[in-house]
Amino acid sequence: MDSQSTEERYVARFPDSRVLHEKAKALFPRGCTHDARYILPFPIYITHARGSHKWDVDGNEYIDYFGGHGGLVLGHAHQSVVQAVNEQIDKGTQYGAESHLSLEWAELIKSYFPSAGLIEFTSSGTEANMLAIRLGRAFTGRSKVVKFRGHFHGGFDEAAVGMSKPWDIPNSTGLLPEVIDCTIALPINNGEALENTLSKGDVAIVMIEALGDHSGVTGIAPSFYQTLRDLTRKYGTLLLFDEVVVGPRFPPGGAQGAKGITPDLTTLGKAVNGVIPGAGCVAGHADVMNMLQFKDDDWNRYQRVPHAGTFNANPLCAAAGIATLKILATGEPQKKANEAASRLRQGMQQSMDRRGITGCVYGDISIWHLYFGGCEMQGSCERVICLNEDKVRPANIGKALALNLALSGIGVPGRGVDGSVSAVHTIEDIDRTIAAFDTSLSTMISEDVLPTG
Ligand code: PLP
Repeated sequence: MDSQSTEERYVARFPDSRVLHEKAKALFPRGCTHDARYILPFPIYITHARGSHKWDVDGNEYIDYFGGHGGLVLGHAHQSVVQAVNEQIDKGTQYGAESHLSLEWAELIKSYFPSAGLIEFTSSGTEANMLAIRLGRAFTGRSKVVKFRGHFHGGFDEAAVGMSKPWDIPNSTGLLPEVIDCTIALPINNGEALENTLSKGDVAIVMIEALGDHSGVTGIAPSFYQTLRDLTRKYGTLLLFDEVVVGPRFPPGGAQGAKGITPDLTTLGKAVNGVIPGAGCVAGHADVMNMLQFKDDDWNRYQRVPHAGTFNANPLCAAAGIATLKILATGEPQKKANEAASRLRQGMQQSMDRRGITGCVYGDISIWHLYFGGCEMQGSCERVICLNEDKVRPANIGKALALNLALSGIGVPGRGVDGSVSAVHTIEDIDRTIAAFDTSLSTMISEDVLPTG
């Protein structure tokens, strides 16, 4: 066995990343630029990426499962997207005017998500969710927002409520007490709790990550989708599906199509344009979306929802969006990504079983989640959801796995317990990843991070 610990090997293997991290500490408050990229002793610095691979400043190559924070269904630098962006950048990136590109992008979104009666572009998924909430409040004249525990909707105030245990304490300070009071985080799959809340008649909108928290850590029971739709209708509350990550991972129709639900509003983002920065939109029922319309002075002043945004439907994002959605509209990339993810999940599960580690690798689509511990799963081998909201995923195990995988040339988000698979992950990528996972487990067992038996 290697006499060095995982952390010592990590420090030795990535010296140039370490140097850059020392500089970053003087520039960025937490030494990195996104909470999800935070990892100790330091994150790895990437120089370029293509397809399913990326390369770091020390010359190491990785099979990537961070996937542009989940949005890269077609992989990094897909040639059609690159070409569209290159051609557009030469023609200008912001006209301060309308362009035909926004129409084409919107039409593609509309045909992908049939519930998209009208569309308003934003600059990110966060902004799309913020706008959706405001539209919901304006339309219903109510103030409260219901979300579900652990569901991630971006970096804004309401979204910080109910993010981690204890559920009644937001995961951020600096929020207005009024925001906390107006945001109710409910347990998922609990129709009774939902009905008790909605029946008070003051909830403007119910927002949900369409496959469950962080794309399905705790899944949504098939029957709960209909409960959601029935109860929101019954009590005059709008239903918002956040499909920022998962929507384009499904074939046309999105998660809502696959689950047989028509929400009032849908939010989309990075995945509808191949993660070219500045993408997002709210799409939904015309009656709600028309709160953005200009009418007479009285309406404009007292009823309308205004919305600006320099990057709304900018031609660069739109060109990338058109290129991306034309390919995704075939449904083929999603099929490939799902098959690759399924092979990966099965291989990882077999590795855990062989080593006597209690745990599950699961997922509904081209995303995998990992849980160490006993847990009841639902579904077939290929598509498994976990409905246990109480399971815990110890941070030290996730971190140890992320470091070990990095040492074996596999890139995963810092929490180490999930990843997204693209249409261009090859069988060789997947099998190498399974082998690297197996080696990582072996090291973690020998370092007493991971209990067996
Ligand atoms: N909604 C979900 C489900 C997300 O996963 C994210 C980001 O990862 C967002 C919203 C926020 O999108 P953005 O990072 O573009 O603001």
